[in-house]
Amino acid sequence: MGTVYAIANQKGGVGKTTTAVNVAACIAEAGFPTLLIDIDPQANATLGLGVAKDTTPNVYDVLAGRCALAETLADTAIERLKLVPAHPDLAAANSELPREPGSEVRLREALTGVRDAFDYVLLDCPPSLGPLTVNALVAADRVIVPVQTEYFALEGLAGLLDTLALIQRELNPRLTIAGMLLTMHDGRTRLARDVEREVRDHFPALVFETVIPRNVRVGEAPSYGRPVTHHDPHCSGSDAYFEFAKEVVRAGAAT
Ligand code: ADP
Ligand code: MG
Repeated sequence: MGTVYAIANQKGGVGKTTTAVNVAACIAEAGFPTLLIDIDPQANATLGLGVAKDTTPNVYDVLAGRCALAETLADTAIERLKLVPAHPDLAAANSELPREPGSEVRLREALTGVRDAFDYVLLDCPPSLGPLTVNALVAADRVIVPVQTEYFALEGLAGLLDTLALIQRELNPRLTIAGMLLTMHDGRTRLARDVEREVRDHFPALVFETVIPRNVRVGEAPSYGRPVTHHDPHCSGSDAYFEFAKEVVRAGAAT
C-alpha cells in the first residue's frame, strides 16, 4: 500500500507545488508508481504537469461524491506518474465541505480504492489550513513542510505545528511530520544562511538535509508544463530535487 505525503504550509509561495511536482516526477522516474493529487483550486500542479485545469472529472468531483478517484487519473508525460487534476470550481468545496458532517474523511475514503496501485501518493495542498488541507492531512501518513528561506520563515510554523498536532489527536493518529524542506535558498546571501541556521536550531531533527536552491530553471519549468528535471535535468534545481527525492525514499524505507 502506497505511502501518502501531504505537502503543506498555510503560507503561499513557499514552494509547495514546485516540490510536489518535482518530487513526484523524480520518484516516478526512479521506478516507483506515483500519484500526485492536486487539491489547490489554483491548479498550479495540474498546469505544471501540462494538464488543462478544466479537465473533468477532477478532484472536485471526487470530494463532492460525484465519482471515484480511479475515474479521475490523468496520464502525464512522465512514465509511472499519474495526476488527479484540480479545477477552479474546487474553491466551492471550502464552503460546501464544512456543511456536511464527517466530510474530513472524503479524500481518505476515496484513496482506499487506488492506494494499492501506487508506491507514493503526494497531495499538493492550497495555501490555507481550511477544509481542503484538513482533508489532505486526514488522508496522509506523513507531511512535508516546504519553508522558504526568507526573513519571515519561522512566522506561522508554530501555528502549522499546532494544527498538525490537533489533527493527529482528533482525526488521524497515524500522521507524522516527515520534515521541513528549505526552499528557494540563495546561498550568496547572509540572510538565507542565517535563516537556515535559525530553522535548524529551532527544529532540530525536523529539517531535511537537502536544501533547494533558488534557480531560474525551477521557476520557468511550469510555463512549459513540465518538471524541472525534464526541463533542464542538469541544473542545480534538478540536482537538489533528485537528492531530496532520494532522501524521502530513504527516510520512508527506514520507518
Ligand atoms: P506554493 O505552492 O507554496 O504557493 P510554488 O511552488 O508555486 O509555491 O512557488 C512559488 C513561486 O516560486 C512559483 O512561481 C515557483 O515557480 C517559484 N519557485 C519555487 N521554487 C523555486 C526555486 N527553487 N527557484 C526559483 N523559483 C522557485
Ligand atoms: Mg501551490
